[in-house]
Amino acid sequence: MFESVRIRLTFWYAGVLALFLVVLSVATYFIFWRSTLQRTDSDLSELSDAFLTTVRAELEENRGSDALKIASQVAIVEHNFREHIFAILDARGAIVISSQDLPNHDSVPKDLLSSDAFVELVKRLDASQYAWGSMESGGSSYRGFTRKFQARGQMYTLVVLRSLRQQQQMLAGVAETFAWVIPISVLLASVGGYFLARKSLAPVVAMSNQAGHISAANLHERLHVKNERDELGHLAGSFNQLLERVDQSFERQRRFMSDASHELRTPVAILRGESEVALSKTSRPAEEYRESLNVLHAEAQRLTRIVDDLFTLTRADAGQYSLEPSDFYLDELLHECAHATRTLASSKQISLACEIPEELPIRADECLLRRMILNLLDNAIKYTPAGGRVAITCRRADSEYELSVTDSGPGIPAELQGRIFERFFRGDNARTHSENDNVGAGLGLSIARWIAQAHHGRLVLARSDSNGSTFTAFLPALVSAPSPEVAKAS
Ligand code: ADP
Repeated sequence: MFESVRIRLTFWYAGVLALFLVVLSVATYFIFWRSTLQRTDSDLSELSDAFLTTVRAELEENRGSDALKIASQVAIVEHNFREHIFAILDARGAIVISSQDLPNHDSVPKDLLSSDAFVELVKRLDASQYAWGSMESGGSSYRGFTRKFQARGQMYTLVVLRSLRQQQQMLAGVAETFAWVIPISVLLASVGGYFLARKSLAPVVAMSNQAGHISAANLHERLHVKNERDELGHLAGSFNQLLERVDQSFERQRRFMSDASHELRTPVAILRGESEVALSKTSRPAEEYRESLNVLHAEAQRLTRIVDDLFTLTRADAGQYSLEPSDFYLDELLHECAHATRTLASSKQISLACEIPEELPIRADECLLRRMILNLLDNAIKYTPAGGRVAITCRRADSEYELSVTDSGPGIPAELQGRIFERFFRGDNARTHSENDNVGAGLGLSIARWIAQAHHGRLVLARSDSNGSTFTAFLPALVSAPSPEVAKAS
């Protein structure tokens, strides 16, 4: 039952409301009780003042031996409100006169003034000039006020008692009202709260039903957002954004898979075709076998390169490529790469110039940086016509190295420049160079850019026009090591 948010919300709501009402009722009851008591106390004190004023006035007129008794009798009659009991005690505590002594005064319980509780109350209050206190007798509660006064040179104590029956009845009425108002309010509020929770959560239920129907097959579907500005609208909006990202990622994966299989299909087809031709006759001249094997070897190499590139990118995407940083000199690595590509360049009569200052220490994954530089050099040589020029430059600018590969090729058309870093993207010039064994799968620049980013750097096409292109990699001239954490492709 408590698994439903609606029920839980309702219970919480009802519980908090009940607690609040109980605390409020207790506080109200207490405040009411205190103010009633305070009012009673001040009434008793005022009444005692009035009583003594009457007594004193009567004493002025009456000078006999029973003067105090008579004066008190007059005062009791004058101030004889119902529920009030007066008693005057002498210095020894004996009652001189009380309401009980008046004829027809049957509202005073018989043994109230002789009860232990009364004696206790008087004794308790004896110490001070005036005091208030409560007592219980014969099942009733009384509030008492005592004060000392002097009459005819003697000390007396005036005790005024008031029955608390009325106040208690009032308080009982208040408590009774709370006793049925609280449960009924909590019940009504719970029913209301349940329906409110049901109504408020209805869009969530609808959203969850909709979300339950979304699968890989209909990832393009989105949740219906009623009000974009409320909390549920935000939730639905965030969920839709998540779906959008998942959809895009799915789409990228799908495209990657289809591009990858497309790229792999060509060399595999060539391998199969060439081997079928070679095997179609039982015997051929050795020269023909050698030619076929050369083709098979070149295609196998191409396949290896594509599979290798794909593997790198998939691992980078999955965040599983750990960099292996080491300290080395970037200038040495650049010279090494230039040396490795010099034969390829000279086979196309392309001059390869290096403008690299000495002593460029760096901390990076040497293998990956080599791959990035070779990719850039490879492209520069591949897309530069015979007799052209390729230059490698490197300089330190503030806290980073600016490493550029410039060629004198035909450049990349402006409309394609934004796409060259996409996976599997190949420009028209790539196809015109397909007679070349070195034809790529359109992954070289994506990998090169990822390598730069994995080193917290970046790779950009700095310039490309009819005079050639310049690719520039900005790499942090690291003081500390590049973080060996898993580098993720963007
Ligand atoms: P590829 O394997 O086709 O070389 P890349 O990702 O390395 O793939 O390059 C993507 C495309 O960018 C290439 O097909 C080519 O059209 C263009 N390109 C890259 N480098 C150069 C360059 N130096 N000069 C002209 N075009 C280039």
